[in-house]
Amino acid sequence: MKKNTLSIREEKILKGIGVSPGIVIGKAALLERQHPTFVPRRIVAAQVAAEVKRFEKAIEKSKEQLEEVKQRILEKGFSQHSYILDVHLKVMEDRMLRDETITMIKEQLVNTEWALKVTFDKISEAFDAIEDEYLKERKEDIKHVVERIHRNLIGGDLRKVEDLEENVIVVAHDLSPADTIQLNLQRVIGIVTDIGGKTSHTAIVSRSLEIPAVVGLEEVTASVAGGETIVIDGTEGVVIIDPSQSTIKAYQLKQQHYRYLERELLKYSTLSAETQDGHHLTLQANIELIEEVPSVIQYGAEGIGLYRTEYLYLNRKTLPDEEEHFQVYKKLMEETAPYPVTIRTLDLGGDKFSSHIELAEQVNPAMGLRAIRFCLMEQDIFKAQLRGILRASHYGKVKILLPMISGVEELWEVKAILDEVKEELGARGFEFDPAIPLGVMIEIPSAAITADILAREVDFFSIGTNDLIQYSLAIDRVNKYVSYLYEPLHPAIVRHMKGVVDCAHEVDIDVGICGEMAADPLYTLIFLGLGLDELSMHPIAIPRVKKVLRLSTRTDGEGLLKKVLQFSTAKETEYFIRKEMAERFPEDFIHCME
Ligand code: PEP
Ligand code: MG
Repeated sequence: MKKNTLSIREEKILKGIGVSPGIVIGKAALLERQHPTFVPRRIVAAQVAAEVKRFEKAIEKSKEQLEEVKQRILEKGFSQHSYILDVHLKVMEDRMLRDETITMIKEQLVNTEWALKVTFDKISEAFDAIEDEYLKERKEDIKHVVERIHRNLIGGDLRKVEDLEENVIVVAHDLSPADTIQLNLQRVIGIVTDIGGKTSHTAIVSRSLEIPAVVGLEEVTASVAGGETIVIDGTEGVVIIDPSQSTIKAYQLKQQHYRYLERELLKYSTLSAETQDGHHLTLQANIELIEEVPSVIQYGAEGIGLYRTEYLYLNRKTLPDEEEHFQVYKKLMEETAPYPVTIRTLDLGGDKFSSHIELAEQVNPAMGLRAIRFCLMEQDIFKAQLRGILRASHYGKVKILLPMISGVEELWEVKAILDEVKEELGARGFEFDPAIPLGVMIEIPSAAITADILAREVDFFSIGTNDLIQYSLAIDRVNKYVSYLYEPLHPAIVRHMKGVVDCAHEVDIDVGICGEMAADPLYTLIFLGLGLDELSMHPIAIPRVKKVLRLSTRTDGEGLLKKVLQFSTAKETEYFIRKEMAERFPEDFIHCME
């Protein structure tokens, strides 16, 4: 009998970190491998003309693609993001890149890919020698351009975010914040990446855009060529490449069940976040982009607990000025009224991407010149934002939230600047809320430990567990090698939270959590027991947390917390809480015991 030569690819299961829930099944679009391969190849003199032509065609094609993307971005009204494309188009014209590559093809008789790589290396070296940080950063632009030309040279399946047309699952080594923002414009149904962690900004944005995503898969770009079927389970952190028919069926069923639960949960959106014994907890939304406001409303948030304003500074040639800040915040407040908006001042640095603001290279950026430290040094940038917020405060309820406060002296400095800005605005005839609430993020251990001192000076606290965990447990929040140590229920974190809540209540100010922990319904009863006043999370998480609250009592939370405070390890606490929640809410938490 003739042997069946059809090779059926076996399904491959990869386990990563599920960062945005949901199940999708779709075709893979490979965006970038970790390192583009530039292989050297000798050519003969007769091939030179054809090789040069191939290079010029690749440049032309790259230009056309960029022009098209630019057009699309402009049509969608995202003109502030088109600046980066202009820079890339200019680089395409760069004589050094173009002429040197062609000279090398001609003189050294090598293939275009190799000549392009050697030319880029030379340019890179020249850039490395430059002191100016801004110019140094332009090296990245040249790299992106070279990669694009290279992709067009090899004509493979590698694609760019802006080139995607049909519904696809994006497979990438990593996604830059700029890439992720563009996903907004595309029909991307899922995201999988080699690197990244639960609180990296790409994870945060994919959650906001409600695109199921799994990161930290290590080898997904090496396992995919483009065009394969992929299953993503963003809740469990599982990715299956080339799934068998039975696997697809099983996941379709799981997807239906998930969608059913989502629909059921949506019913909670319009209900109050109140326990059975009448205790109300304010559930608010974290947002990065103003476009997210419709989901804030759809999922029933009582305002915005954290607006990460870093995105206002991304992908643009100039800094936002006072007027732009004012217009954006006013619009946000109008759309969210009658609920309040909490605007966090610029939290640049660390894992937060840099825009064109020049941050000097730092050995340890997470602990370097960033966030409030940067704003206190670059006061003009800070004041423009404060003026914008203050002016907006005349039109509704707005609060100012300061990131990365490490002690009361920084707070005093901010208060002095705020007073100065108020006086200045008054003199210019602007109206604003003179008693605009001022709060601090508690995300550095020194702030948690001195919460009693800080509490006397502010109107509210917001606990940033993403960073509080990072700094308390000394683990880089975006480093996958230590992600196993990222334990939200470590006794140190629970104690920090308890101390902070008690200090806040001692002087009658509100305290909330705006880190990713707030979104996990597994922890809701612990927060209830701790006595938190507010929880702020990505909007989609709100109905699930609300359900737990509505089916519990404050006493339930206090009882659980009592036990939690007695455990000596995160593992014991985690096991205890999973078991408890699975018993109380089998439909929602039974998978936690698997
Ligand atoms: C945090 O650190 O918990 C937080 C909410 O801020 P970000 O994730 O933006 O650092
Ligand atoms: Mg933080």
